Amino acid sequence: MQYRAYGKTGVTVSVMGFGGMRFENPRDHEKSAATVLRAFEKGVTYFDTAPFYCEDQSEIIVGKAIKEMKKRGKPFVVSSKSNRVKGSELRQDLEKSLKRLNVEALDFYNCWCLMTLDDWERRKGGGAVKEIMKAKEEGLIRHAVFSTHLPGPDIQKVIEEGYFEGVTLGYCATNFPYREQGIQAAAAHNMGVVVMNPLGGGTLVSNEAAFGFIKIRPEQTMLEAALHFIMANQQITVALVGCRNDADVDSAVAAIESYRPYSAEEVQNIRSRVQGDYNNLCTTCMYCKGCPEGIPVWKFMETYNHTLIKDGESPANRLKWHWGVSIKELERCTQCGHCEEVCTQHLPILERFEALKKAA
Ligand code: SF4
Ligand code: SF4
Repeated sequence: MQYRAYGKTGVTVSVMGFGGMRFENPRDHEKSAATVLRAFEKGVTYFDTAPFYCEDQSEIIVGKAIKEMKKRGKPFVVSSKSNRVKGSELRQDLEKSLKRLNVEALDFYNCWCLMTLDDWERRKGGGAVKEIMKAKEEGLIRHAVFSTHLPGPDIQKVIEEGYFEGVTLGYCATNFPYREQGIQAAAAHNMGVVVMNPLGGGTLVSNEAAFGFIKIRPEQTMLEAALHFIMANQQITVALVGCRNDADVDSAVAAIESYRPYSAEEVQNIRSRVQGDYNNLCTTCMYCKGCPEGIPVWKFMETYNHTLIKDGESPANRLKWHWGVSIKELERCTQCGHCEEVCTQHLPILERFEALKKAA
């Protein structure tokens, strides 16, 4: 395992972070916590979780693993989040997270999921940011950070306001132009950078025909190529890998450990192959899962990804055989707009539904 300094915090963390957002059976706390511990035993020291992840079980699972990790006497850090606007509500989230995670203080606490600069203004105006700073003074938070789906120039604006010591952002080999400026701004301010979605929500890894150009050596797997691209950037501190089970931990750690430094030319070769960027792909983050009509929006949007990357799979087949859903489900859509409001990638979901209806 490689370790990197997290900005100017004085903390060193593993370059692979454990992402606690994809446990395959979150109601099985024992088994899920064992997966977290497996990562810890393999040298991972950065653990990321949040309220509501995995049916709201993720913090409980990570907390269970932390109880055990404390006994082992090796260092680790834990990160959690709150997206509240009101300071008093953020405080409630924080206290709940501390309790569930079995820690006295959160090593990293994220002002979670800044979607727009207006949203950022609301977090300041509503007292959330002030409450994070207060909790830091009280010793309940060691390092204040933010997580975001903003484009690079907007990330830079938030960074320049000087509240935070690090940023968590979505970034991968095929959408890097969208947030590059944010990473550079973080480096200029000596801040830590945690990358979420380094595998493009899985799209990258499962579509070698479209994205095989990210492999710089024939023996690399797509998982290795996606993670190595991130590791080649020294401005990035941690690549968060969402692990469903022990097998995911093993393959991610093996991929990380097979890294050999890229030359500047090799990095440039990948970059020059990305035409524009692929930031218009759905990352299957499932933030849109609160559809009042119960429509599994992400299943349709992931299907649409396949028309964008032109891998030849028909939407009808994808919906039927991969997702087991019918295009008829879209007839329930009232066009309320909720899914578009919460979409982390700001995707034109309703427009894509129409395209799918025509194609399927
Ligand atoms: S616009 Fe349609 S799919 Fe989106 S949340 Fe509303 S009803 Fe659900
Ligand atoms: S449509 Fe948007 S919010 Fe929903 S899964 Fe895809 S990227 Fe995430």
